[in-house]
Amino acid sequence: MNVHFTEEQKMLQQAFREFAEEYLAPNAAKWDEEHSCPTELFPLVGELGVLGIFVPEEYGGVGLGHVERIIAMEEFGRASAGFTTFLFAHQLAVGAMNDFGTEEQKKQYLPGMCDGTAIWSLAVTEPGGGTDLYNHKVTAEKDGDDYIINGRKCFLTNSHNCDYCIVTAKTGVNEKGRNILSAFIVPMDNEGIKPGRLENKSGMRGSLTGDMILTNCRVPASAMLGADGKGAQIALKEIGEIGRASMSAICVGIMKACIEEGVKFANDRIIYGKPLAKIQAIQWHIAEMRLNYEIGRALIYRAACYKDEGQATTLWNGMAKLFGTRAAVESAQHCIELMGGYGVITEYPVDRYMRDALAAISPGGTNEVHKMVIAADTLKTFA
Ligand SMILES: Cc1cc2nc3c(=O)[nH]c(=O)nc-3n(C[C@H](O)[C@H](O)[C@H](O)COP(=O)(O)OP(=O)(O)OC[C@H]3O[C@@H](n4cnc5c(N)ncnc54)[C@H](O)[C@@H]3O)c2cc1C
Repeated sequence: MNVHFTEEQKMLQQAFREFAEEYLAPNAAKWDEEHSCPTELFPLVGELGVLGIFVPEEYGGVGLGHVERIIAMEEFGRASAGFTTFLFAHQLAVGAMNDFGTEEQKKQYLPGMCDGTAIWSLAVTEPGGGTDLYNHKVTAEKDGDDYIINGRKCFLTNSHNCDYCIVTAKTGVNEKGRNILSAFIVPMDNEGIKPGRLENKSGMRGSLTGDMILTNCRVPASAMLGADGKGAQIALKEIGEIGRASMSAICVGIMKACIEEGVKFANDRIIYGKPLAKIQAIQWHIAEMRLNYEIGRALIYRAACYKDEGQATTLWNGMAKLFGTRAAVESAQHCIELMGGYGVITEYPVDRYMRDALAAISPGGTNEVHKMVIAADTLKTFA
């Protein structure tokens, strides 16, 4: 494991930062206010190589790894956590296609997923509970050479702006009585699929999150992603690895933004005839934010290195996400506290940072889930 950036990674970081400064930072407050998602930027992000950064070049990707992907998520997250949520939700589907697609499916879909021709979503969560994965009510029933999908998905990002949706559905029950899940590629021009309710989120408002309704949605058997019965594995791997890691990196970006905002404010604000930054109590807020940021960064880049090395990442992504979401909320609070009354004036971005940090807690698995994973590993490893 090597968390020091190579020269190439430093250049990428610079390129991603410049893109974020030019296209994201100036518009983040507007997207947040309007709860809008700037899909017109999607092909530009494709051109930059971010969408398929970890996809092999033969399928239209850049052929790099997850450290590079996390660099993009951190830099973009610092400028607009909402917009970055739009991107990583697409990457959930890219990961699913790359890891589980047949050769034919990869050749057909990955180039357009990487260059930004088509926006994708991954619909796993259902109203009956995201954590209770196997309790799927969405079904896919075989009908001749086709499958017919019925049911309702909720909380999926890119629900109202995707061109394709990967839908997990129950295709049977195993001998132990547990639902067998499979995943299907559904183009949004299929008349059996329609976005439903659009959620009015408190944070991550540069992305759209809502329901997807499937009504007698007929797809050919070739629309099944990979093999029958792979749905749970696809959901756990992509949400657990791409989703969890992305949210952690976005939170690191939020923490950096909190530090920058706090430092600027502390230097500019004059109180008792001197900058606020001279007051020791204010410096403690700054120290706490810095500590949060450095620990959050260390955890997520370590997890990304493990992923690139082909090692298990469940524990490290879980720790990075649990710490990252908590620390981002805490950092936003430190920033608000050091700014006094200005901290809650919406002219400043820190109110958005707080709402974005809170909205990062559930996607990619809740804190309770991460604690279960961390505890199980710790009880085994430290016994
Ligand atoms: C901004 C945003 C974007 C999202 N994007 C997507 C997406 O693109 N695709 C998608 O499929 N989903 C998406 N989700 C859904 C997300 O994955 C779910 O919110 C998450 O899995 C939790 O599911 P839930 O909200 O149904 O909560 P529940 O599963 O109902 O959990 C409620 C509470 O119970 C706790 N809990 C549940 N089970 C246990 C247990 N066994 N032990 C202890 N505690 C437990 C949870 O930790 C939580 O605190 C998104 C959500 C948000 C907020």
